[in-house]
Amino acid sequence: MDYDVLILGGGLIGCAVAYEISKYNLNIAVIEKDYDIADDVALINTAMVYDGVESEDTLNAKLERMGNKMMDIISAKFNVPFKRCGSLIIAQNDEEVEVITNIYNRAIERGIKDVSILEPEYIYEMEPNLKVEVKKALYSKNTGVICPFDLALSYGEVAFDNGVKFKLEEEVIDIQEISKGFTVITNKNKFTSKLVINTIPSENYSIVNEKKIGVNNNEGILKYLLLDNNEKTKFSHALFIMNSKGERIYTLPTMEGDIVAAISIKENVSYKELVNRVSKITSGVDDIDVKMFLDWPFFEESMVIDDSGIDDGLIQIKGKHYGQVTMTPAIANIVCESVVSKMKCKLKKDFNDKRREYYKFRELCDEERKRIIKLDNKYGKIICGCEKVTEGEIVDAIRRPLGARTVEGVKRRTGAAFGNCQGAHCLNKVVSILARETNKDMKEIAKDSKNSNIVLYRIKEFDSM
Ligand SMILES: Cc1cc2nc3c(=O)[nH]c(=O)nc-3n(C[C@H](O)[C@H](O)[C@H](O)COP(=O)(O)OP(=O)(O)OC[C@H]3O[C@@H](n4cnc5c(N)ncnc54)[C@H](O)[C@@H]3O)c2cc1C
Repeated sequence: MDYDVLILGGGLIGCAVAYEISKYNLNIAVIEKDYDIADDVALINTAMVYDGVESEDTLNAKLERMGNKMMDIISAKFNVPFKRCGSLIIAQNDEEVEVITNIYNRAIERGIKDVSILEPEYIYEMEPNLKVEVKKALYSKNTGVICPFDLALSYGEVAFDNGVKFKLEEEVIDIQEISKGFTVITNKNKFTSKLVINTIPSENYSIVNEKKIGVNNNEGILKYLLLDNNEKTKFSHALFIMNSKGERIYTLPTMEGDIVAAISIKENVSYKELVNRVSKITSGVDDIDVKMFLDWPFFEESMVIDDSGIDDGLIQIKGKHYGQVTMTPAIANIVCESVVSKMKCKLKKDFNDKRREYYKFRELCDEERKRIIKLDNKYGKIICGCEKVTEGEIVDAIRRPLGARTVEGVKRRTGAAFGNCQGAHCLNKVVSILARETNKDMKEIAKDSKNSNIVLYRIKEFDSM
C-alpha cells in the first residue's frame, strides 16, 4: 500500500483531520485539487464560532458546542486570533419574543447553561450604540469570532511539519475498493491506501454512490456586507435577528475591527433590500459604510461522520453547514478516534505540536518592529500601505510550509490588498515578489487557479530593459 491513510480534500476539515492523525505513527497524504489548502473557506476573514444555541438540528448543535469548547486551547496553541464576543439575539416585537423564548427553552433542554433572556435596560447597557427598539434579547456568552483561514493553515502547517504529504493541484477522479483498502484515482496518479477519509462533498465517485447516507440539501443564500467600524455599526457582541421564517440577520465584530453584516435567506434579495434589512440592527447603514459586498450559497444540512464503511477502510464526512468552522475541532477528534481504533496505531514520540512563528507588523509595538527589522530588513519595507503589510511577511508567507503560490494565497495569509484601495497600490508588487521567490516569470503568477494569470503580456518595448 502507498499510504496508511489518504485524506481527500485539503479544506479546513481535511487539514484538521490530517493534524489530529499526524500525532500517530502513520504514513498519511492529503489530496487537494486547488493550488492552495482551504481555498474554499469563506473569503471574509472572520467566522462566527457558534455555541449550539441557534441550530435546530440537535446533532449539529452538539458538534458546535463541542467545537466551541475546544477553540480556546486550539487558538492559543496555534496563535490564531480568536475572541469570545458573546451574542444577543434581539426581539423587536411579540412574534420575535416568542421565537427567542423557544430558542432559550431548547437551549436549556440541551443542557446549555450560559444563556439568559435579558430586559432592554441591560441590553442597552451592554450595547450603548444600539438605537433600535428592543423588547427582549437572548444573551449567550460563549459565541466567538475566529480567523478560519488561519485556523486551517495552522492545522495544515503543523501536519506538514509532522510528515503529512500534501498533494496540491491533484483532482480525485474516483475511489475504488480493493482487498484491504482502496485505490484512489486522480488526474495524475493512482494511489492505494488502507484507509480513505473522504471530506470532498462529491456524489460522483462509484464508492460514494454505493455507500451512500442521505444528507438533506437545505440550501439558501448568505449575503455579506463588510462595514466600516463607525458609530452606527460599533458593537462589541454578535447581534442577531431571527424570524419565524428561519431567516437570520446578523452583525459580527471582525478580528480586524470592522463589522460583518450578513443575512441568510431562502430567496434572493437586492443589495438595496439587504442594506435596508441590516439597518434594522445597525441603526441605519448606507452605501458609504459598505466596504465589500459578497454573496455565497448557504447550507444547513445535517453533518454526518459516516464510519459505517470503516471495516473496509472508508470514512466519509458528509454534509455542508454554516457552522462547520465551529464544528471542525470536534469532527477531527471524532474521526481521529475511529482511525486509531481501526489502525491500532501508536502516538509518535517526536510529534511537534508547535506552529512556526510569524510576525504581523501592524500588530507589533515599535520595539518589536525594530527587533525584527534588525533580523531581516525586509520587515522594514511596507508593501501594502492600507493594511501595513511588509515585504518580510509576504516572503515568509511564501517560504513557510505549504506556502502561498498565488496572489490570493498571499492575500489570505498576510491581509495585503484587503484594505480600502483593494490592492490598487500593492498587487503588482505582490506578483513581483511571488515571481522572484518562486523563480518564475511574472506572467506565470496566478491569481488563485489555473488560467487566472494576472500579468498576461509584457510590453515589447521594455523587453530589452
Ligand atoms: C459564506 C460562508 C460563511 C460561513 N461562515 C461560517 C461561520 O461564520 N462560522 C462557521 O462555523 N462556519 C462558517 N462557514 C462554514 C465553513 O467555512 C465551511 O463550511 C468550511 O470551510 C468547509 O470546510 P470543508 O473542509 O468541509 O469543505 P471545503 O472547504 O469545501 O473542502 C473541501 C476541499 O476539497 C477539495 N476538493 C473538491 N473536489 C476535489 C477533488 N475532486 N479532488 C481533490 N480535492 C477536491 C476542495 O478544493 C476543497 O479544498 C461558512 C461557509 C460559507 C460558505
